[in-house]
Amino acid sequence: GQCAAHCPVNALKENEAFIPLRHAIANKELFTTVQIAPAVRVSLGEEFGFKQGDNVAGKIYAALRRLGFNAIFDTNFGADMTIMEEATEFVHRFQNKEMLPLITTCCPSWVEYLERFYDDMIPHFSSSKSPMMMTGVLTKRYYAQKNNIDPQTIFNVAIMPCTSKKEEKDRKEMAQSDGLQDIDLVLTTRELARMIRQAGIDFTNLKDEAPDSLLGDFSGAGLIFGATGGVMEAALRTAAACTGEKLEKLEFQAVRGLTDIKETTIKVAGQDARIAVTHGLVNVQHVLDRVREAKKNNEELPWHFIEVMACKGGCVSGGGQTYSKEEDTRALRAKGLYDTDKDMSIRQSHENPSVQEIYATLLEHPGSHKAHELLHTHYTPRPFEKK
Ligand code: SF4
Repeated sequence: GQCAAHCPVNALKENEAFIPLRHAIANKELFTTVQIAPAVRVSLGEEFGFKQGDNVAGKIYAALRRLGFNAIFDTNFGADMTIMEEATEFVHRFQNKEMLPLITTCCPSWVEYLERFYDDMIPHFSSSKSPMMMTGVLTKRYYAQKNNIDPQTIFNVAIMPCTSKKEEKDRKEMAQSDGLQDIDLVLTTRELARMIRQAGIDFTNLKDEAPDSLLGDFSGAGLIFGATGGVMEAALRTAAACTGEKLEKLEFQAVRGLTDIKETTIKVAGQDARIAVTHGLVNVQHVLDRVREAKKNNEELPWHFIEVMACKGGCVSGGGQTYSKEEDTRALRAKGLYDTDKDMSIRQSHENPSVQEIYATLLEHPGSHKAHELLHTHYTPRPFEKK
């Protein structure tokens, strides 16, 4: 209490997040699960002497096992699921010329901003949940059932680059009718680093380990979500392939990098789809104002599909990441993700065998009734009131 109030860097207060986790891990009645977001793996190493952008995922999985988690999953898996649902939404709307442009919604800061300032655009929002929430719901509704675990006894943790994710897990729009919370606790990258240190784990010398199946299995498309343009590139890899377009290359260079507003055109179902990717809320305003204007004047839409991330550079530079003052941090962390994707054998979400298994055994197909029940959400206008 008092110490926390007087701690100059708020470290004691931040540590309070560890208390419920320590209790959960110590409680043998509980089954503790954890997922790590794409961007975390290219930032956490900086806390332990690795170079900016080094992908230390294997060591993070190993450290989480040593901290006592019962199962280690990866948000990249949920990202593959998000793509299955979102690409399906896009193809459906694009072919039917319905409620375009479609706008991505993985970033809770952006969702909140739109609900306050652009609520007329809510129908354009993708209803697909973010990768964190998809991994969360499938942990308690799929993994639990498959492994005969009572979902009520699962304590589900997410390690995120982002402080807004702490709010997202509590959105009332995410609440389940039976009251079960999909994600119980969110820790940031910095908080995880501190936990690893406090536990005395020699992170630098840990041997790489693998995550647990099947919510730990992912494609390169799921991995690149951590950088601006990554969600769009992943969606295009699946949307184009699933409508019979031949992709010469899986890389969409036009949506990569740190330009404020990135644009490209690609063929989806034989027609040109116009794409925009933007990051940093200042740039978002320009994009949305152009869409609003076109709609008001009944003009041709500037874009059909738009990716938005609130942080400049995307989640690699999120508010929960390792602090850095260096100019090229964003680019180096993004490179860490793209380099790993390049070497992966499966680089498209629809080719992830674990994703295919979940559809075959539980969800039937993307956009099904069951998929909507578990993997989709909705949004609420929250008009901004000046105090
Ligand atoms: Fe969080 Fe920033 Fe990523 Fe949005 S872009 S989800 S605010 S880290």
